[in-house]
Amino acid sequence: MLIMTSQWLIGMVYLGAAFLLIFGLWRMSSPVTAAGGIHVAGWGMLAAVLVSFLYVFSVSEAARPQLPVNVSLALVALLLGGGMAWWSGRKAAMTAMPQMVAIYNGMGGGAAAAIAAMELFGSRVFDLSTLAGTLFGALIGAISLSGSLIAWAKLDGRLNKPLRMKGLQLINALLMLVTLSVGAWLMVVMQDAGGSLSHVLWLIGVFFGCALLFGVLMTLPIGGADMPVVISIYNAFTGLAVGLEGFVLQVPALMIAGMLVGAAGVLLTLLMAKAMNRTVVHVLFARFGDQPTRKGAVIEGELKPTAASDAGVAMRYANKVIIVPGYGLAVAQGQQKLYEFVKLLQAHGVLVRFAVHPVAGRMPGQMDVLLAEAGVPYDLIFQLEDINTDFPDTDVVLVIGANDVVNPAARSDKSSPIYGMPILDVDKAHHVYVVKRGEGKGYAGIQNQLFYGENCNMVYGDAQAVLVKMIEAVRGLA
Ligand code: NDP
Repeated sequence: MLIMTSQWLIGMVYLGAAFLLIFGLWRMSSPVTAAGGIHVAGWGMLAAVLVSFLYVFSVSEAARPQLPVNVSLALVALLLGGGMAWWSGRKAAMTAMPQMVAIYNGMGGGAAAAIAAMELFGSRVFDLSTLAGTLFGALIGAISLSGSLIAWAKLDGRLNKPLRMKGLQLINALLMLVTLSVGAWLMVVMQDAGGSLSHVLWLIGVFFGCALLFGVLMTLPIGGADMPVVISIYNAFTGLAVGLEGFVLQVPALMIAGMLVGAAGVLLTLLMAKAMNRTVVHVLFARFGDQPTRKGAVIEGELKPTAASDAGVAMRYANKVIIVPGYGLAVAQGQQKLYEFVKLLQAHGVLVRFAVHPVAGRMPGQMDVLLAEAGVPYDLIFQLEDINTDFPDTDVVLVIGANDVVNPAARSDKSSPIYGMPILDVDKAHHVYVVKRGEGKGYAGIQNQLFYGENCNMVYGDAQAVLVKMIEAVRGLA
């Protein structure tokens, strides 16, 4: 009776959790409701985790003696993992979010691979579909783990140079072939074999080793502007791996959560690839060794520095201003001062809007979150496709800490590594002020034609410090 009641309760809570996850994801589709959506999904996940403890009532008689140890281990793991996530989540700077996403994503893939490893090494009897699901989940979970760790190291500045060597593409293809062959061989020898697997344990080890190595080698050559797409691909991999292992363990909550993450990851990957005008295949394979790094055309002309106060006053007397935030604004934590400046301009009747590029900053949506944090109303924030045609009709554009996302070379210079990426057409505005600390390049590591244009002035300095001077200058006019 107790077993039936607990199983019924587990099933109902899983159903409720699945509903909360889907509802939360749906709310995350708009910046207005996104924060609430994260809470809703979080409650769903917490409920699913806690109710899983009711499984203690349905373990078999034979496994009962191990129950205290296993439950204690689960509690310790939850406390450790939950505590570390809580601590690192609170401490992580806005600019370190992409690394955090990469590493948590890798942990998810690693967890799925670990479940698969437990099943494979556990001498269990497999039918064909369960074995295929376990092996496939193990493969993509392991690739996601090692690939995400490399992506984390790159984003965290620990691995600076992409590894590009001749023939790497071929090595990767061969490695994948070996991994798949070992997987196929395991399918043959493990199907319905049960308890007599000691002779293939080393093969399972080789399978995992090859998958982990493939994740490393696949990610090492990818650099620069393609990194966001890569993280999103691994996100999809992790989701799929978790979903498959949920199928193996027959846990519906894992299946649903995994498939949701997998589907969301695939959609995000496709949207981001579109935003950067790359195909996913191109991101993953076109840069594998063999070709010299493209640097873009040499730019002629000179940079024209100006004072922050002059730029601030020019905006005060403009009719229409568009602000383009980028990664540097997050570095400077200048969002509060920026909104203070905007409110000042608005008080003088200036029409001010924000233009946000889909890959501005270091992760999708980073600029939206940054602006929301400062209290900027959502109706002032426009995405690329909704505002790009308005630049020719704009008096002043303030580019603050952005670089690649406003580089006109993406439109015209076929030798540029960002050629084809949609950009904000800032260069078409009447006048442009660019705030940055010096002559540092953007993430893609290339020069920017915009800065040398006739209609562009550079305002050098930390974004926050520059904004303070602009505010003072405009206040000083009154
Ligand atoms: P960029 O990285 O192109 O440029 C940022 C600029 O900010 C730099 O040129 C830097 O110049 C300046 N800067 C840095 N710190 C400060 C500061 N404290 N104050 C003022 N300026 C500062 O940023 P974008 O947002 O334009 O472009 C994003 C790039 O990152 C794209 O190439 C994109 O593909 C890539 N990317 C995007 C991800 C995403 O999902 N959004 C994830 C990973 C990569 P200086 O040093 O002179 O100050």
